[in-house]
Amino acid sequence: MKLPVFRFAPSPNGHLHLGHALSALLNARAAVALSGRFLVRVEDIDQTRCTPELERDMFEDLAWLGLPLNEPVLRQSEAFPHYRAALERLQDMGLVYPAYLTRAEIKRFVASREAAGESWPRDPDGAPLYPGDTTVLSSEEIAARAASDAPFALRLDMKAALARVDSPLFWQEAGAEGEALFNPPSKVEVNAAAWGDVVLARKETPTSYHLAVVVDDARQGITDVLRGRDLYEATSVHRVLQQLLGLPQPVYRHHRLVLAEDGRKLSKSNQDTSLRALRAAGLTHAELRKRIGL
Ligand code: GLU
Repeated sequence: MKLPVFRFAPSPNGHLHLGHALSALLNARAAVALSGRFLVRVEDIDQTRCTPELERDMFEDLAWLGLPLNEPVLRQSEAFPHYRAALERLQDMGLVYPAYLTRAEIKRFVASREAAGESWPRDPDGAPLYPGDTTVLSSEEIAARAASDAPFALRLDMKAALARVDSPLFWQEAGAEGEALFNPPSKVEVNAAAWGDVVLARKETPTSYHLAVVVDDARQGITDVLRGRDLYEATSVHRVLQQLLGLPQPVYRHHRLVLAEDGRKLSKSNQDTSLRALRAAGLTHAELRKRIGL
């Protein structure tokens, strides 16, 4: 049997919080429990928000957590050619199109439809589905943008993509901690249509999270993707991309989320729950484990 390979894949676009600590420690523990390996991957494709300072702070937090960093750490900003190759493959399959609507234009358009009493579909994260350029812009405007230096996103034509993969399509979901790690995985049916035409790359960034994550999980031989429950729905998109690109499918293990004291979701912009701030205030390892339920 192949030995399991786990990964913790944070983005240094803010300071790590308690939820990251839980994710990192669960990955490291699962690797030990299942006699596998534990890797860290730096997901820094967003070069405007990820900075060397934040990355340095992140490694300090990881060192404090006592995580083993005994293999070269893969940094996504150094792997753009791999994502480009995957994107080109999808383009050759005719599944990618340039989309010129800006975020503000999408927002304005959807707001106007909703103001008119129409309900506009939203993806599982709550973002409105892409309306399509021709719904909003004239063909002259689209041609003018295509001929100019206008910003664009490269989107996956989800309908066409779904016609090229198994139907129904499934992913394997298993337990993330404790005894549940050893339970056999169960099948979850993919619902990628709910995401609409997801972004695969942008003019200034040659990949998106969805594309980079499936390419790297395959490149690193990740067998078990153990990550937060907030990414559960995104797994549908990842399974579709894996099948289109002929990549192996890992087992997924989504873990519970750590909530702030007021019951809300933790976020990187909330400094109170950043590991760095808590450490500066004297947090001990025992207190941390208690706070994250370990
Ligand atoms: N980089 C993502 C994050 O920090 C995690 C991606 C994943 O585990 O698939 O939320």
